[in-house]
Amino acid sequence: MKAGIHPKYYRATVHCACGSEFETGSTVKEINIEICSKCHPFFTGKQKLVDSAGRVERFRRKYAQFDKASAAAKTEA
Ligand SMILES: [Zn+2]
Repeated sequence: MKAGIHPKYYRATVHCACGSEFETGSTVKEINIEICSKCHPFFTGKQKLVDSAGRVERFRRKYAQFDKASAAAKTEA
């Protein structure tokens, strides 16, 4: 290893949004992630919506008004 060109290597703690934590090695001490092997559908075997940015919620809100509009159009006709 050439001296003076390598970043410091830490034992890093990884924090997942699901609450699980584990250790690994990294050049930073703390890592925050949204999904890990404890909660990813591939490993849990359960069907689950991975909706970290609230996209599903936004879609529902956006299309709720169209539902109302089409219902109103039907009662008018
Ligand atoms: Zn997780």
